[in-house]
Amino acid sequence: MIAIYPGSFDPVTFGHLDIIERASKVVDELIIGVLVNSAKKPMFFREERVSLIEETTKHIPNVTVKTFEGLTVDFAKENKANLIIRGLRAVTDFEIEMQIAQTNHSIEPTVDTMFFTTSLEYAYLSSTIVKEIAGYGSDVSKMVSQVVVDAIKNKQKNSSGVEEK
Ligand code: ADP
Repeated sequence: MIAIYPGSFDPVTFGHLDIIERASKVVDELIIGVLVNSAKKPMFFREERVSLIEETTKHIPNVTVKTFEGLTVDFAKENKANLIIRGLRAVTDFEIEMQIAQTNHSIEPTVDTMFFTTSLEYAYLSSTIVKEIAGYGSDVSKMVSQVVVDAIKNKQKNSSGVEEK
């Protein structure tokens, strides 16, 4: 079974890694899809987000990372995947995630969504929180891998965000 795990991953956190590690055990191949959304101004370029995920997941053999634009179900089909993995942190995630999953299933009935509930220690964690905390100069090494810690520091030295094409 091939599954995709779509998201912004700006940047990848230990919450994402938790889902990736667990999902990779129940599927044969897990393709992480980095969504390129020109409406958002991310901290990291798409290539940076991909390489930070690759570094953070290099201990997991059946994981690959790609970028995509457009519909998640199209990305799934292009990769011959019939499963979408998503993480649920709190009840607040549930309503929107259910709507997205139902929409995807109605557009493409061969593609289903599987949810993993976050491990409690990461329930509060999001890429936005990491960026906020790091923005105040606080340590985020309990939230993201060392390559991400270093990349954030680098980014803070050089810019205030990137413009996606
Ligand atoms: P998006 O912009 O699509 O929400 P994210 O990169 O924020 O992209 O998240 C991608 C996926 O990872 C989503 O399913 C989200 O619920 C899940 N996720 C994010 N943070 C965590 C976390 N701390 N624990 C578990 N799942 C998470």
